[in-house]
Amino acid sequence: MTITALMPVYGRSEVAPVRGEGCYLYDAEGHEWLDFASGIAVNSLGHGHPHLVAAIQRQAATLMHTSNLYKVPAQTALAERIVSLTFADTVFFTNSGAEAIECAVKTCRAYQYAQGHAEKFRILTFSNAFHGRTLATISATNQEKMRKGFEPLPDWFHVLPFNDLEAVAAAIDPSVGGIMVEPIQGEGGIRPATKEFLQGLRSLCDAHDLLLILDEVQCGVARTGTLFAHEQYGVTPDVMAIAKGIGGGFPVGACLATERAAAGMVVGTHGSTYGGNPLAMAACQAVLDIVAEPAFLARVRESGERLRAALEQMIPNHDDLFDSVRGVGLMLGLKLKTDSRAFVAHARSHGILTVAAGENVVRLLPPLIIEEHHIRECVDKLSAAARSFVPAEAA
Ligand code: PLP
Repeated sequence: MTITALMPVYGRSEVAPVRGEGCYLYDAEGHEWLDFASGIAVNSLGHGHPHLVAAIQRQAATLMHTSNLYKVPAQTALAERIVSLTFADTVFFTNSGAEAIECAVKTCRAYQYAQGHAEKFRILTFSNAFHGRTLATISATNQEKMRKGFEPLPDWFHVLPFNDLEAVAAAIDPSVGGIMVEPIQGEGGIRPATKEFLQGLRSLCDAHDLLLILDEVQCGVARTGTLFAHEQYGVTPDVMAIAKGIGGGFPVGACLATERAAAGMVVGTHGSTYGGNPLAMAACQAVLDIVAEPAFLARVRESGERLRAALEQMIPNHDDLFDSVRGVGLMLGLKLKTDSRAFVAHARSHGILTVAAGENVVRLLPPLIIEEHHIRECVDKLSAAARSFVPAEAA
């Protein structure tokens, strides 16, 4: 037998952390990494944050799981808190981002069905989008590497060029019932939607009675310096999927919707065994206690500006390798002039974890609690990595 015990679907690096503290990860031999990946935008409070740890410990000892067959008071309390903080009137809790997207897509389908428009089943999505790895969510992207081997996929999505409003207007036909977009594409290469684009999508949705679904799984929950990225666009969605940072490391997601958009989500239309269990709810409450505070959000914006400025200052010293910085808040991308995957791997050996993304971008997604010295350390480590990096084509 040659297959590994773990199904070999990931090309894993050698880094094997067993412990985390603040913005650092450690392996069994004590090697240390500055974690500017945060488990891909998940560990919003870093590792081992005392408030989050205490909340999970307390809840684990009290009650971990019951069932959605019963009332779950902790779930109602968190839903009410999220409703009070956002555009939403109602929330469904999931265990992951892809499940939150599934619920968002079903909400859109159910809305059109409830309006007597079952024919409006299709959802417009965008090039290089990433919405997850389930069959429905891979059919929402045009990324070949995700779709390959799984086609035919359902024809529910129509993928259009990102930031091209005219293409969207031209694609709206009687089969279209919604538009789904990441305000800032993550996997696609830290590509922010333009204000005109997102506002234009809102107007098109209003004009054609379509639902605007935002995927804030990666860019949401304070990552960009506002609780949700769309707040910076002056655009309000009908439905939104969140996950990652909301649990701070505990697997949890949510689908938020307005009352109008959730018109079709009646008893029996959706469900989840684990979704919204008391343990997950305790984790989310603890994260929100910290990240929803205006002073914390202001600090994220400041740290984002400082990190961006520090990266921009570094670029001229390595202008054969680095091109530019993009992104918002602490969701930043360093665009390279060569393969970002090779550089991310090389940077790991210099003690810093980052994440590669599309368009040769190195994603910097640090814990939202970083301080000035972490920014300096990040730039020092990236600079050291750049000095010794030999691009594959030159090696
Ligand atoms: N949507 C976006 C924008 C994401 O970045 C991701 C994960 O990276 C997902 C959806 C899927 O989330 P999950 O991996 O939790 O299913």
